[in-house]
Amino acid sequence: MVRAVYPGSFDPVTLGHLDIIKRSAGIVDELIVGILVNKAKKPLFDMDERLELLNETVKDISNVKVVTFEGLTVDFAMKYDANVIVRGLRAVTDYENEMQIAQTNRALCPYIETMFLTTSLEYAFLSSTIVKELASYHEDVARFVPAIVNKKLKEKFE
Ligand code: ADP
Repeated sequence: MVRAVYPGSFDPVTLGHLDIIKRSAGIVDELIVGILVNKAKKPLFDMDERLELLNETVKDISNVKVVTFEGLTVDFAMKYDANVIVRGLRAVTDYENEMQIAQTNRALCPYIETMFLTTSLEYAFLSSTIVKELASYHEDVARFVPAIVNKKLKEKFE
């Protein structure tokens, strides 16, 4: 039984995240998506909103569960008995930071492996930050986010 965690801010969840979720859920037995409570960042969507949007987004994928967590990713993984951490890689710009995180996590907990999935090409440039930027100028972001997220973004920037 392979259980994996997929940690992130998901502020908000995009189709790039969903692509990583679907593909990794096809590889592992159980995937736990963890929304990080990061006190250093000021999110657009609060925890409850992000949880609701993610739950709605993954509702049809039977082996995926969404939770929130605080603190270190390895502690989050251990709490749920997971031995894989999933991360998505978009461009070389992600690489350095992701390597640093993965090496640190391995030093902290050697039996937990980080599994990188490379982004599908159509989402290679996509980030929550870009989506928020576009939505703030009332651009339609239906191509980039689940329908429920698009609706919520429109309400936020009305
Ligand atoms: P964080 O603040 O931890 O970077 P994000 O929500 O921005 O959280 O991203 C969570 C994970 O999803 C990271 O591994 C990130 O590289 C990956 N990710 C984000 N956007 C995409 C995308 N468009 N395609 C593939 N992976 C992505």
